[in-house]
Amino acid sequence: MSVRIAVNEPHITETAKRLVQQTMESGFVSSAGPMVRQFESTFAAFLGVEHAVTINSGTSALHLALLALGIGPGDEVIVPDFTMIATVNAVLYCGATPVLVDVDPEIFTLDPGLIEARITPRTRALIVVHLYGHSADMQPIMAMARMRGLAVVEDAAEAHGARCRGRLCGSLGDIAAFSFYGNKLITTGEGGMVVTDDAALAARVRSLRDMAHDPEKRFRHVELGFSFRMSSLQAALGLGQLQHVDELLARKQRMAEHYRRRLAEHAGLRLPVTKDWAENMHWMFSVLVEPQAGMTRDAFCAALRSRGIDTRDFFLPCSTQPLLRGRLPANDTFPVSNDIAARGCYLPSGLALTEMQIDAVCDAVDEVLA
Ligand SMILES: *Cc1c(COP(=O)(O)O)cnc(C)c1O
Repeated sequence: MSVRIAVNEPHITETAKRLVQQTMESGFVSSAGPMVRQFESTFAAFLGVEHAVTINSGTSALHLALLALGIGPGDEVIVPDFTMIATVNAVLYCGATPVLVDVDPEIFTLDPGLIEARITPRTRALIVVHLYGHSADMQPIMAMARMRGLAVVEDAAEAHGARCRGRLCGSLGDIAAFSFYGNKLITTGEGGMVVTDDAALAARVRSLRDMAHDPEKRFRHVELGFSFRMSSLQAALGLGQLQHVDELLARKQRMAEHYRRRLAEHAGLRLPVTKDWAENMHWMFSVLVEPQAGMTRDAFCAALRSRGIDTRDFFLPCSTQPLLRGRLPANDTFPVSNDIAARGCYLPSGLALTEMQIDAVCDAVDEVLA
């Protein structure tokens, strides 16, 4: 059977369509013109941070955030074992060494209790990843990082509007990266943003994003820059959605509540956990297939697929990636990330999903787990 309900279908607001149209007619199609700056200042205001710099992707945003911090060869950067490969790649692009740490079994983010043991004299920074819309436990992480003199980068690609102890993800560390890929809450199709309160870091990112032109003399280059700019058309798309971000976040809450109401009775599924200090924005409704289901995650997802329901498996643990073979300490184990990677998936969660479609997904889950 073909897919009836996709795992993600974006919802492009009318405001966004209108802004893109106007921008096209304005003649400013590259990164030049007012639209990019407007998207940046509106995003900074939304987060309550001083500086926001648009980038061509979330991965490039992470890369430039690390470069701005001065991360380079010989440095170690702590990253969670359970994340999208972009987090690790950004460290590798800088010529630095990723040091993997296992994650929390309930919220899948960096386990604060395991970080200390992995800090060495070469550790310079750590990247926390707020996964599936739930913030990492920032309080102990920031306390430790401050004590040990480590920079904290937030990978907030999946956490637009999520909060930790009342504060928005992306405003909690030293610098943060967002993605606006097609499946993220706010999307520009492809795109990203670096945010920070630090003017010097923001200036470094702005320069590196656009070929590092000498401020004194355009087309003179002292250091190696990148062509990581976002276009005005993309910025218009992002700004048009950002103007309705509260509505988009409210829609995500309603979707998650609907799933929770319908699926709470299934002992075979563990629904997303929200810590009492967090506001989960439920980017994707992620579930773990429990032993009580009497089937594997793969069997569960295949059975849903045969009913026309698309799902997405969790990431593979970074420690199992062939890319990193030979680059990791041999004696490390990552029991939590291996367990959740084998049992986790997310259900259709795009902003275009209707209540009727959520009911259809839940009907299919009822059948599969019956
Ligand atoms: C989407 C995502 C990224 C990368 O974003 P791109 O815009 O696709 O480069 C990085 N980290 C996480 C956790 C993501 O989900």
